[in-house]
Amino acid sequence: AGPDRLGRLGGMQSTLVLIKPDGVKRQLTGAILARIEAKGYVVADLKLVQPDRALLEEHYEEHQGKPFFEPLVEFMLSGPSVAIRLEGDRVIEGFRSLAGTTDPTTAAPGTIRGDLGRDWGLKVQQNLVHGSDSEESAARELALWFA
Ligand code: UDP
Repeated sequence: AGPDRLGRLGGMQSTLVLIKPDGVKRQLTGAILARIEAKGYVVADLKLVQPDRALLEEHYEEHQGKPFFEPLVEFMLSGPSVAIRLEGDRVIEGFRSLAGTTDPTTAAPGTIRGDLGRDWGLKVQQNLVHGSDSEESAARELALWFA
């Protein structure tokens, strides 16, 4: 189907969601999954993963060279993440809306980051979840984490 009158493209999508090490350590996996399932998205695959540096450098390749890159990789190495293949109509933008904006201190209440996250000592990287930002990233990231 083509775009609707608001220019929105419909159709079933898959996205990669990660519950990052802070979410796993704080035992928020169930609370986060409950929000995702309550929204109506389908958990098509799920596993606990301890990623290695090579996986993370590929996953975050667009951020290589930025000042937060190394602290981000170190944080993501600090413990396991829950990797989820999530499916649904427009799930890519839908999950990012559910997650909230990047900085958990200012993410809107009602979102995962806004309700459950905050800045633990200027560590913006600890924002509980990751969600792919486009169909291209989703395909690339799903291939990495569910190889
Ligand atoms: N990040 C950070 N400092 C910044 C920007 C981003 O530590 O100034 C981390 C944060 O964990 C974020 C991830 O890098 O989730 C990827 O950044 P992106 O801009 O893609 O944010 P997202 O799409 O996850 O909201």
